[in-house]
Amino acid sequence: MSSPSHRVAIHWFRRDLRVSDNTALHQAWQRAEKVVPVYILSDWEHSHAWTGPGREHFLCECLRSLAGNLSTLEGRLILRQGAAVDELAKLARETKATAIFYNRDPDPFGKAIESQLETVAEELGLELCPCDDVSMHRFDETTKDDGTAYRVYTPYSKRWLNLEKRAPVPKPERLNTPESIPSLPLPTLETWQLSLPGHADFLPGGEKAARERLTAAVDERLTLYAELRDAPAAEATSRLSQDLRWGTISIRTVYERARHAQGAASSGTVKDSFQKYIKELAWRDFYLHLLEAFPEVLETEFNPDYRNLPWDEPGDSFEAWKAGRTGFPIVDAGMRELLTTGFIHNRVRMIVAMFLTKDLHLDWRLGEQHFAQHLLDGEIASNNGGWQWSAGTGADAAPYFRIQNPWTQSARHDPKGDYIKRWVPELASVPASKLHAPPEAGPLASSYPVPILDHGRERDRTLAIFKKHREEIGKA
Ligand SMILES: Cc1cc2nc3c(=O)[nH]c(=O)nc-3n(C[C@H](O)[C@H](O)[C@H](O)COP(=O)(O)OP(=O)(O)OC[C@H]3O[C@@H](n4cnc5c(N)ncnc54)[C@H](O)[C@@H]3O)c2cc1C
Repeated sequence: MSSPSHRVAIHWFRRDLRVSDNTALHQAWQRAEKVVPVYILSDWEHSHAWTGPGREHFLCECLRSLAGNLSTLEGRLILRQGAAVDELAKLARETKATAIFYNRDPDPFGKAIESQLETVAEELGLELCPCDDVSMHRFDETTKDDGTAYRVYTPYSKRWLNLEKRAPVPKPERLNTPESIPSLPLPTLETWQLSLPGHADFLPGGEKAARERLTAAVDERLTLYAELRDAPAAEATSRLSQDLRWGTISIRTVYERARHAQGAASSGTVKDSFQKYIKELAWRDFYLHLLEAFPEVLETEFNPDYRNLPWDEPGDSFEAWKAGRTGFPIVDAGMRELLTTGFIHNRVRMIVAMFLTKDLHLDWRLGEQHFAQHLLDGEIASNNGGWQWSAGTGADAAPYFRIQNPWTQSARHDPKGDYIKRWVPELASVPASKLHAPPEAGPLASSYPVPILDHGRERDRTLAIFKKHREEIGKA
């Protein structure tokens, strides 16, 4: 290791809440005698458009785990609260730090803070050391040959798969955080005046929990991924999305373990499963890539043809969708899974998202916000990408006329009704065959609603709305 260039440096934790394979933390350790690891808590209270109690609870667990892990490296997690740039400037003055290391946040909000920090750092004479860490590949590595962004996943993924992958870096040995730097206590939900609903049942947060999930994924869950990834009852996906979102595990570690498992597998089925899984990791980078190139997708439709569609006003049916009381068992199961666990299986995310946009004719932004408030893995790029894909307005999206039928989706992906019965206990004794078609007479169970709409009729209405809109913009 070369001699350090800073006596004291700050490592600013953001969406990288781990000590292992943390690019910027690793560099801070290599280049500074003493590292001050800091996390800046937001100071909003009660409610926020893009987050909610479940996510903040998960963040609290991640910070607790991080504080413990740092203490094993002679480090101490410093917590501050407020505007990130002001707090970093204050901390730099207090500790006489001469550099701030951080991993770039590729979303527009993260970038805006970074550019404010650049101005302040120049005034204070601080060296800024940003690193690339969140995605597997940088934006400029995965553009087309002419330097423009890909808009379609398949050619993007081919490029992504062909690029050499960075190996994980080791965790720092000793951070040597100076004594007596004031810190707030570890946060709790009280910090933001929040509380969890009684039925909440979340996965544990933190680096250790994430590593255990990765081991379970490569040893068991993913071995039949190619075959079972669309079956919500099968538990055959990795369940690592919240860990990738908060950075309790790195994308490089996940990739390396998946590649290794693929190489070690003796069966072709298992090898195919890991290949399929690795391609899904490329979706995550693809959506980050799109957001980087087209940040306007957070405001408007990616496809200009579908801007200003005449969405309905949200009313009772939106409330029924959020509460999981639409009378469509697969939709209700997904929405209740979300409220209880902060997660929904990917196939079911698509079903409930299409239901909101194509059956209820409601603006995808309403669903995007509801997901952002409830998903532990809520991530701006993937969430926007998933919603715009489902609404038919996004990059490489399902064409508007390909409208999934929730009844046939349910029969195909949950034929025995195991997933539905788990999340909609009122239907536990209803025969599976009755769960995948509108009830012939009355409700399926006494406390369960009849379907709030007729899918065929609403499908026709969607087709008419899109057709008329295309005529109006001269694209019929
Ligand atoms: C409407 C909608 C909203 C979504 N919102 C989010 C979100 O806020 N955050 C989020 O991480 N994912 C989102 N997704 C993508 C996907 O549903 C989740 O990543 C996946 O369900 C997470 O479960 P898993 O970790 O078991 O996935 P696995 O199947 O094990 O996949 C492994 C990893 O690959 C990535 N990945 C897989 N599929 C996708 C995809 N379609 N798009 C982007 N990344 C993917 C995730 O990081 C995931 O953890 C959304 C999808 C839809 C249709």
